[in-house]
Amino acid sequence: MTVPGARRRETALAYSGGTIDRAGNQRTDPAWVDATLAAAGARVIPLWRDRCIVSGDPAVPAILAASGARAVLEAAAETVFLGLDEGAGFFAADLSPLEESQAVGLAGGERALDVRAFVGTLAPPQAARLGYARGMLYWHRHQQYCGTCGSKTTTGHGGHLRSCRNQECGRLHFPRVEPAVIMLVESAAPPRRCLLARHQGSAPDGFSTLAGFVGVSESLEDAVRREVAEETGVLAGTVTYLGSQGWPFPSGLMVGFRATALTEAVTPDGEEVLEARWFTPAQLTELAAARGRLGREDSIGHYLLQSWLAETI
Ligand SMILES: [Zn+2]
Repeated sequence: MTVPGARRRETALAYSGGTIDRAGNQRTDPAWVDATLAAAGARVIPLWRDRCIVSGDPAVPAILAASGARAVLEAAAETVFLGLDEGAGFFAADLSPLEESQAVGLAGGERALDVRAFVGTLAPPQAARLGYARGMLYWHRHQQYCGTCGSKTTTGHGGHLRSCRNQECGRLHFPRVEPAVIMLVESAAPPRRCLLARHQGSAPDGFSTLAGFVGVSESLEDAVRREVAEETGVLAGTVTYLGSQGWPFPSGLMVGFRATALTEAVTPDGEEVLEARWFTPAQLTELAAARGRLGREDSIGHYLLQSWLAETI
């Protein structure tokens, strides 16, 4: 069956589609990781408490030659191998233990700034790399202790593993992502409409697509149907995958879907969702014009809405 609008996305979303080779087979060898860091061309991305260290306006993130970044590497709480770019190693260094001014000064920047604040000025592979660095360093800072026995953990595999130091436990911890579904719900009967919701804390005209975390032992499709029903009271039938986006804020994976509604009566849950409403393409265009945009441009939610509108034209 052909589902209208079920074309898989073809353009790279922000933070996704990185061109770096993660070298999963090589990074398990500490000698190889050390040699890659010491080799000519190796680069280091310094971060401070999830933020890039930047200069100028628009912001240019500091990406340092490893050979000249000895002080950064020595001060870093963690140095993570990200991957290879045309054979040269890319690493992320976490300067979070320092004060902001110290970290910025050490990295030769002017200030610390979250990648989301300047992603619009970055090429997609660069945004992907900075997001990847952010997500990995966040994970290290939050996996310092073993969740099984409470002992300290130690890093390995170039920063892609933390092992419990308690030999009786020995649990291995790998970086985790938390999947969430995000969906554009479409009416089954004409006129063509999509269901948007205004969430707690959003502006009076701040309507956006529905989204929610995937539960334990739940399929993505079931999560879509459950979230739509919980938040709006609408029952969804067919659920079609459209694409995904790495979302390292701090450790998400957004999985995008189109869902077809079986019912249209809307009963918002009143907690997460204050209001839910069906929008025709013309109404959605009007809303976008009034707000100046359709959601954050770096988000898959924006893509879901834009692609739905584009199919109407
Ligand atoms: Zn343990």
